Amino acid sequence: MSNLDRQAVPAVCGGRGFVVAEPVRELLSPRRVQLGESTEVRRLLPNLGRRMVGAWAFVDHYGPDDIADEPGMQVPPHPHMGLQTVSWLHEGEVLHRDSTGSLQTVRPRELGLMTSGRAISHSEESPRPHARLLHGAQLWVALPDAHRHVEPHFQHHADLPHVTAPGLTATVILGELDGALSPGTTYSPLVGADLALTRGAETNLPLDPDFEYAVLSMSGEAHVDGVPVLPGSMLYLGCGRTSLPLRADSDAGLMLLGGEPFEEEIVMWWNFVGRSHEEIERARADWQTGTRFGEVHGYDGGRLPAPALPPVALKPRGRVR
Ligand code: MN
Repeated sequence: MSNLDRQAVPAVCGGRGFVVAEPVRELLSPRRVQLGESTEVRRLLPNLGRRMVGAWAFVDHYGPDDIADEPGMQVPPHPHMGLQTVSWLHEGEVLHRDSTGSLQTVRPRELGLMTSGRAISHSEESPRPHARLLHGAQLWVALPDAHRHVEPHFQHHADLPHVTAPGLTATVILGELDGALSPGTTYSPLVGADLALTRGAETNLPLDPDFEYAVLSMSGEAHVDGVPVLPGSMLYLGCGRTSLPLRADSDAGLMLLGGEPFEEEIVMWWNFVGRSHEEIERARADWQTGTRFGEVHGYDGGRLPAPALPPVALKPRGRVR
């Protein structure tokens, strides 16, 4: 997915200064962002209160939307740099095309992992015909400096490992959870997992005390460390935890995101993660002139133009503000 926010302003994120070393329970409210004419997403990261969780730098939750009589998701070709995108669906399907030649339909609880490295472009659309409901999350992982110029590539994994406990099936999307390792390529220590809880479930999820974590609710009524987390909101949990109490009052769908605090300071703007304002300006210019980011073939429509880069000096603001 693209950041279609027309008021995109550059933000500096990362750095260790604002990581909460202790367990905390910090409820993050979503910002509602209009994507195109009919789709509204709830943006959890970056958030007014917090910009990153480990290397996770962007989290949008969308749906469930009834798209039976609508085109559904239609995101024209747009560029990415310095990050990985994770497409995660609970309902529906998304057809992915990219400039490395990928053409892949991603279905519920399958991993669509695109590593932009130095430059990639892609489009995402609801296939025709498509299922009635569309419900998912779009997430970005910032690449550390040592790996951010890797060759762009796309991975699709339909068969991901699971961790189970009474009332819980956890699907490991990225990284490792309780000994189960996702086949998706990662470039920094992190974890992403889908937590499917059944009504009445009460369990403890093992965590790594060196990671910071957050839990996004996608559906149902769940309590995370005793805090009710409603669909479309996210609970930041800090570091220093060895386990996480979960309870479900109805069937519930959560996403666990975590990782080693991301120590590098990054500059995020539109669909780019860089290290300086100049680098972002260059990437924008390269997209506008049709260089570096390649071509997406087969999408029925034009490319997405970059928004204007506001003439503001970047002020490092750290992981929270
Ligand atoms: Mn995208």
